[in-house]
Amino acid sequence: MARKQSQLEVCSFCGRPMPEMFSGLGTALICSDCIESGYRIISSRPKSHSLNSEELSLQTLPTPQKINDFLNQYVIGQEEAKRFLSVAVYNHYKRILQNNENDDVEIEKSNILLVGSTGTGKTLLARTIAKMLQVPFAIADATSLTEAGYVGEDVENILVRLLQDSGYDVQKAERGIVFIDEIDKIARKSENMSITRDVSGEGVQQGLLKMLEGSIVNVPPQGGRKHPDQELIHVDTKNILFICGGAFDGIERKIAQRMHTQVIGFDAQQETEHIDRENILQYIAPQDLKSFGLIPEIIGRLPVLTYLKPLDRTALRNILTEPKNALTKQYKKLLAMDNVKLSFDDNALDYIVDKAIEYKLGARGLRGLMETVMTDLMYELPNHKQTGKQQSFTVTRDYARLKLEKADYVRLKQAM
Ligand code: ADP
Repeated sequence: MARKQSQLEVCSFCGRPMPEMFSGLGTALICSDCIESGYRIISSRPKSHSLNSEELSLQTLPTPQKINDFLNQYVIGQEEAKRFLSVAVYNHYKRILQNNENDDVEIEKSNILLVGSTGTGKTLLARTIAKMLQVPFAIADATSLTEAGYVGEDVENILVRLLQDSGYDVQKAERGIVFIDEIDKIARKSENMSITRDVSGEGVQQGLLKMLEGSIVNVPPQGGRKHPDQELIHVDTKNILFICGGAFDGIERKIAQRMHTQVIGFDAQQETEHIDRENILQYIAPQDLKSFGLIPEIIGRLPVLTYLKPLDRTALRNILTEPKNALTKQYKKLLAMDNVKLSFDDNALDYIVDKAIEYKLGARGLRGLMETVMTDLMYELPNHKQTGKQQSFTVTRDYARLKLEKADYVRLKQAM
């Protein structure tokens, strides 16, 4: 409230004596200038990127179709995975928002498992969903996890990253999304139980299980090993959406075996003709994951199972130009800041895709190839920006070839 003063008082913030002064509950005083500048600072701050409880409502929650449309702006192809993911994410947030009061029907949590080779867009899908919903997001690598007490990371450390992304706002973190990569690497090595201790396989699966099904997890705020006197943050994982990803190398064999056994006894000839052998992953089912070595309880906690296709030439080519933040768009933007109008010849991009395929680099390798082609340009072109004149540069096939040859393909391949 504003105070009447008999003599000028000093503002506790700027230290100046001012005629009008405001006070709060404490003894500090603030002048109108400081209030104004404080207001300007706060209102010019970028809005927190995390969704808070009030913003998340059934009205504002995007429909599966909208989620899918958003994913289309960033992820090329993978229609099947996008549909599964959109529905699962929609249901997950509906479940959080349900009004449980007069109802016995409890909607179960629908964690997701994405199966597909490395570099096909699993992480990108999960990251894009989190971006759309503006919820905290964390990526963890299952290979670094070990059973509590052994060398490596404890399972709880996965949640440390989520807490960090939510600015240690536990409530926000409890509605976030966690992507656990390489979940296939913690599979048991064989279906038969081993008598030797398996610190990075089944033990970790048991640890993860609790987290996936929803429990209160005690998280050391800064990560690392827990020690007795440490203060721990209690995180309830009931409403955290877990998206797991893995390449499951060799699972095609298990799928084929199962399908072969299934079709025997029917008109086998006719049945097998319908099987698309080129893309056997599309038939993946929970029992294949079990044959691969995931424990049934984990499989049960990942009820939404879908697959990603290997990216073909057209998909790789589109990745260079189509997504909202496609690589070519990023380089154009970078150079536009130096007053350079950059363009790419179609056959230069075709050439880069050819090289990605030739060296089996996939989508992940496109970035490295583009960087090799572009580095000299990004070094030289900014030198001319003082002239004030706009420059143009077109990356041609010959230019791209020259730069890749100079960089030496073999070395390039080894580096990726
Ligand atoms: P994964 O998690 O399946 O190993 P990522 O999602 O990390 O693969 O993909 C690696 C990079 O390749 C991404 O950052 C992205 O640039 C590109 N990428 C992969 N798949 C796609 C896709 N389907 N659409 C667009 N970009 C993709």
